[in-house]
Amino acid sequence: MAQTDYDVVVVGAGFAGLYMLHKLRSNGFSVRVYEAGSDIGGTWFWNRYPGARCDVESLEYSYQFSEELQQEWEWSEKYATQGEILTYVNHVADRFDLRKDIQLNTQIKSTTYDEDENAWTVRTTEGAVIRSSYCVMATGCLSSMNIPKIPGLDNYKKPTYHTGNWPHEEPDFTGKRVGIIGTGSSGVQSIPLIAEQADHLYVFQRTPSYAIPAYNGPYDPDYVRDRKENYAHYRAEAKKSRSGFLLSVNDANAMDCDGQEREMTYEARWTRGGLTFLGAFNDLLIDKTANDTAAEFVRRKIRKVVEDPELAEKLSPDTVIGCKRMCVDTNYYQTYNRSNVTLRNVRDTPIEELTEDGIRQGGEEIKLDALVFATGFDAMTGALSKIDIRGRGGRSLKEKWAEGAKTYLGLAIFGFPNMFIVTGPGSPSVLANMMPAIEHHVEWIADCLIYMRNSESREIEAVDKAEENWVRHTNEIAGNSLFPTCNSWYLGANIPGKPRVFMPYLGFQRYLEVCEQVVEKGYEGFSLKP
Ligand code: NAP
Repeated sequence: MAQTDYDVVVVGAGFAGLYMLHKLRSNGFSVRVYEAGSDIGGTWFWNRYPGARCDVESLEYSYQFSEELQQEWEWSEKYATQGEILTYVNHVADRFDLRKDIQLNTQIKSTTYDEDENAWTVRTTEGAVIRSSYCVMATGCLSSMNIPKIPGLDNYKKPTYHTGNWPHEEPDFTGKRVGIIGTGSSGVQSIPLIAEQADHLYVFQRTPSYAIPAYNGPYDPDYVRDRKENYAHYRAEAKKSRSGFLLSVNDANAMDCDGQEREMTYEARWTRGGLTFLGAFNDLLIDKTANDTAAEFVRRKIRKVVEDPELAEKLSPDTVIGCKRMCVDTNYYQTYNRSNVTLRNVRDTPIEELTEDGIRQGGEEIKLDALVFATGFDAMTGALSKIDIRGRGGRSLKEKWAEGAKTYLGLAIFGFPNMFIVTGPGSPSVLANMMPAIEHHVEWIADCLIYMRNSESREIEAVDKAEENWVRHTNEIAGNSLFPTCNSWYLGANIPGKPRVFMPYLGFQRYLEVCEQVVEKGYEGFSLKP
């Protein structure tokens, strides 16, 4: 290895960065983690809006690398709150003594590859310069906020909030007229709670979401006992699914069943609640006719809950269900029966501008005391594009990705040797349970670096052709599904000007197999320099 400050610099101290640090340090590498936030936790540090909680079951949305850790930690609810997850993050950091190798409040400005030395020069915004043999970008898939460029944004004088950068001091909306733009997962979670507090809540909806009830509640001790006693089995089963969750997909096709059978299947999934609704049938994300049956089932549920039929209609999505990330809710549709909540349809009547103290829409000014942006993220590439990453020949990653993100396995990039991304575009990441997806990448990267050390290699890089093939393969799979049919953030379609390319890889189990084969074949698709 070249003369460097550290073997590995890790950017980001969320779940990915923390485990990367632990894994590499336990294997004798010197590691330094840089984190922009004032504390660790990544997503769960920043997204502390009212109602923020995970919509993957706690017993599955947790690390499995340490048997002791998974046995000792007690989750209180099926879907943990942001606060509980952050407590868990801190417990992990303390338990494995991680903090001493993490530098907080430090934003990475640039990283530049030195081809002669096979090392990265990493610069912080405060001017510090660090050299490392490898860089691991653990910057998160949903960490770069999207605030839409609405005319008048600079003129608006009242407090604004983004769900992805919520203040630590909880804002008090009591007696206030609050506006919220966005009805994705963050909006769906926060709207019911803000409505309970505010004098009046105006929801600005462009596209209605499909939300499945969470039916959250305390864990049944017997259920937890069984899961814990058989963790290895359950975790292994989850890895065999296409999404990394248990109870994923029914093998039957919706269109092979009669109407009554379909209804019963949907009802059973609905009653269980949560994201696994989409696994009711195998063909829901492939066959539009099948998808329509599930979509209509949910629309019927919305009509049952929302008392005003016109309002129910406005809240009913007409898109492919599951094409955009589904939401998991608690009292979302019920909230629209409140007299202090007004739905404003932005699709039919776009927002014209922000005024000094409100929103002008359809010629009418709605006065507000506070405005919440639940407008999502520049997903999967946003956080990386903010860093000036320069690889071979000084070429910037931003330039390389101008036409869309290209990676090999979502882990490595041609032209950017000795750099890895955890859950990068081209990997299952956001279409899988993030925790096993993160752990898999961390372990794959650590094994790779151990291999590099043992084989006395000093440089590893994705091969151009392998990357091309992988991007094509990822797109082919997506092209056989209904995913490209809507303007989702999976496609980058939520960010004006972002190339429309489907970013995540569909199929968790298949992906795990490919990654394993790559290693078995001596890091096929990578070039290694001795
Ligand atoms: P999102 O799903 O991208 O939703 C953003 C919302 O803002 C959409 O309704 C979007 O409308 C709207 N919007 C954006 N720009 C707009 C504009 N100019 N005018 C009007 N409306 C606009 O973002 P998110 O809700 O923060 O969720 C992002 C992802 O984070 C989720 O899909 C999920 O993967 C993850 N997440 C998970 C949880 C959980 O585990 N419980 C919670 C929150 C988030 P359009 O649909 O028309 O673009």
